[in-house]
Amino acid sequence: MKKNIISYLVILLSILLNCSNEDILKKNIISNNNPAKNFKNLFLDLQINPDKVNLISSQDRDRNPTAIVLHTTDSDSIKEYLEKSILNKFFVHAIIDKKGNIYKDFQSKSKVYRLIPKMDKYSVHVAIEGKEDEILSNVIQINKISEFIGAYSKKYSIPLENKDIASEKGVFTHTQAKKKYGNFVDMRDCGGEKLLASVLISLSGKYSPEIEWKDRLSKEWTFRREDPKSNKPKEEFTHGRSITENPTTILENVEKDSNSHIPEDYRVKYVFDQNMEPTCIVLHYTAISDFKVSLKVLEDRRVSANIMVDKDGKAYQLLDSLNHTARAAGGTNNSCIQIEIVGKNTEELLANEPQTKKVIALVNELSKKFGIQISNEKIESLRGVFSHTQAKKKFGRSVALVGKDFDPGEEYMRKVIEATGSKYYNEEDWYDRKSEDWIILYGDFQP
Ligand SMILES: [Zn+2]
Repeated sequence: MKKNIISYLVILLSILLNCSNEDILKKNIISNNNPAKNFKNLFLDLQINPDKVNLISSQDRDRNPTAIVLHTTDSDSIKEYLEKSILNKFFVHAIIDKKGNIYKDFQSKSKVYRLIPKMDKYSVHVAIEGKEDEILSNVIQINKISEFIGAYSKKYSIPLENKDIASEKGVFTHTQAKKKYGNFVDMRDCGGEKLLASVLISLSGKYSPEIEWKDRLSKEWTFRREDPKSNKPKEEFTHGRSITENPTTILENVEKDSNSHIPEDYRVKYVFDQNMEPTCIVLHYTAISDFKVSLKVLEDRRVSANIMVDKDGKAYQLLDSLNHTARAAGGTNNSCIQIEIVGKNTEELLANEPQTKKVIALVNELSKKFGIQISNEKIESLRGVFSHTQAKKKFGRSVALVGKDFDPGEEYMRKVIEATGSKYYNEEDWYDRKSEDWIILYGDFQP
C-alpha cells in the first residue's frame, strides 16, 4: 500500500516536472554552472542596505547543523520577504529565487538566527521564493532546491527524511515545525509538504506524510491532530445530564429549578477528569448562535465548559461541580473555570447587553467566591481572567490554532474586565509578551 502511494507520487511528480527522477538526479550532479552567491550580492541587486542585516540578532556557535527547514515566501517577492524579515528581526540562512539563483550567507553555518526558537540551534533555514504550486511547476527552481538540499545533507550527514522532528535530524517544512513547537504568527502553510515530498523523493530520501510523523497523535504537539480513524470508539461519558443526579450550585447567577437544582436539559454530558481549586477564569465564544446546538457540539467532541451563557442572558452550570475540570483551553483546564458565551462572533457578543451583563456578574461572583483577581496581565500565573485566544497564544494545544483569531475577542475582554472596575491589559502589555516563550510569537510576520 505504502509503496503504491510512493510510486503514484513519483509518477505524479514526474508528470508535473515533465521529467523523470533520474533526469533530476543527473542534472543535480552535473549542474554546477550556477554556484551560490553571497547575500551581499542579493542585497545590492535588490537595493537593500546590507548593513541592515547586522541589526538582526544572531548568535555565533561552533556547530554542525543537523536539520534543514524549508520555508516558502508565498505571495511575497524576495525583496518584500527580506524587508519584512529584517523589520521583524527574523532571518534565514539561504534563499532560492524563482530563477534558481541560490543566495547564502557564507558564515551561516555558525549563525543561529531567531526563527523557530526551539529548533534554531541545530537548524539551517532555507527560504524558497513563490507559492508551493508555482515552485512545483518551476523545473529550474525545483532542481536547484534538490541540488542544494542534496549537497547540504551530504556535507553535514543530515538524513533525507522527515518522519521524526523531535530527533533534531532531517529535512522538515516550517509547517511541521509549527505543528510541533508553535512559535508562529499564524497557521499558514510554510515550506509545503508536496514540495518537500518532491525534493526528498528526487534525492532517494524517505518522505513521510503527516499521519506517519512520529507520535503525531500524542498531546505533546502544540497543534493537536485528531485521530482520522473515527471508527475508534469515543470515550464513555461518566457525568452529566441523565447520568449523574442533578446537582445544586453555589452560584447566584446561574439558573435553578424550583428545587434549586440545575435544569436537567441544560446540563452537558462529559468525561470526568479531575477536581481543581479554581484560581482563574477563561472566556470563550461558541461560534454557534444556539445553546442546545452548542451543547451537542461540545458532547460530540468530548469537550466541555463549566458554565455557558445563553443569548437571552441566562447562565447555566454545565458540569456537576465548579471544582470539576472542563476540557476547553489546553494549559488552563486544571486551574481555570471555563465560560462559554453563545454567539457567532465578537460583534454579536458586543451587541448583546443582557448577555454581557450576565458575564460580568458571573466574573464578579466567581472572583469573590474563589478569590480570583480580575486581571488579564499574566496568564502563566494562572491567576486572573483571560481569553481563550490568550491561552492558545501562550500554551497552544488546540486543533484549531490561529494566531490572529479572536475567542471571544479582545474588545469583548476589555468590556468585561473594565466593567468590573479592573485594569485591562492590551496584548503588547501582557507579561513577557515579546519574549520567545510564547507558542504564537508577537508580531505580524514570520518567515
Ligand atoms: Zn516559514
